[in-house]
Amino acid sequence: MEKLIERAVRDLCGSAYAIALTGAGISTESGIADFRGPSGIWTRDPEAERRAYRSYEKFLRNPKEWWEERLTSPSLLGNLEKAVPNPGHYALTELERLGILKCVITQNVDGLHQKAGITNLFEYHGSVLKLRCVSCGLRFAQDAFDLEKLRREDQLPPRCPKCGGIIKTDGVAFGEPIPGDVASQSLEEAGKCDLMLICGTSAVVYPFANLPRFARERGKTIIIEINADPTPLTEEGISDYLIQGKTGEILPKIVEGVKKAVK
Ligand SMILES: [Zn+2]
Repeated sequence: MEKLIERAVRDLCGSAYAIALTGAGISTESGIADFRGPSGIWTRDPEAERRAYRSYEKFLRNPKEWWEERLTSPSLLGNLEKAVPNPGHYALTELERLGILKCVITQNVDGLHQKAGITNLFEYHGSVLKLRCVSCGLRFAQDAFDLEKLRREDQLPPRCPKCGGIIKTDGVAFGEPIPGDVASQSLEEAGKCDLMLICGTSAVVYPFANLPRFARERGKTIIIEINADPTPLTEEGISDYLIQGKTGEILPKIVEGVKKAVK
């Protein structure tokens, strides 16, 4: 493994435009449950998964009722707002500060990269820390609206101050299209990079899973995986190599190496 970490350090230092893709694996080390793992949220509660599949349709049909239900029932993911970043998140932020990493594209909705201070962040599936207007796409901090007050005054759903559109949580629901801005910006980044660091994701959920494949088709991009286990990307030869283990342990080692090398 040490050899592969050294190789990753060399590759990162030699890159002109490195980007990172992250998934659930980087967040489980912050105590956040994944969905499909052995003790995942859907695995433990299949009925919750069926409800989640119907949620977006319900929002479109009756956003007022959707919001009321949301404000009165406990969140499926537990109290995500209290979760804190782990050494893996901070290592990526450090790589961005060193000028090596140009952006992070994440599948995670937990907002932990934001909390860890990444500046150029694309939250592919949205963020629990934000709300979004479904008409114009404008995003708001979660506390930009007094949702409880709106509920008491029978004013739900919240409305966009810019266009009057209906406000939804930013997290992308099943069946909901990926917001156009992050979808196109992410594709642009994947097309531009010469190194892609894939951390804690098996990249099987589409269209996110297209990003490494798109980068691979362009040929010269170096694709490095850091994951607990081999993934379809490893097996299909999409990635050049896999550093197997915890992102919270491997990424800080890579940062150490990069810092020594740039000195
Ligand atoms: Zn709007």
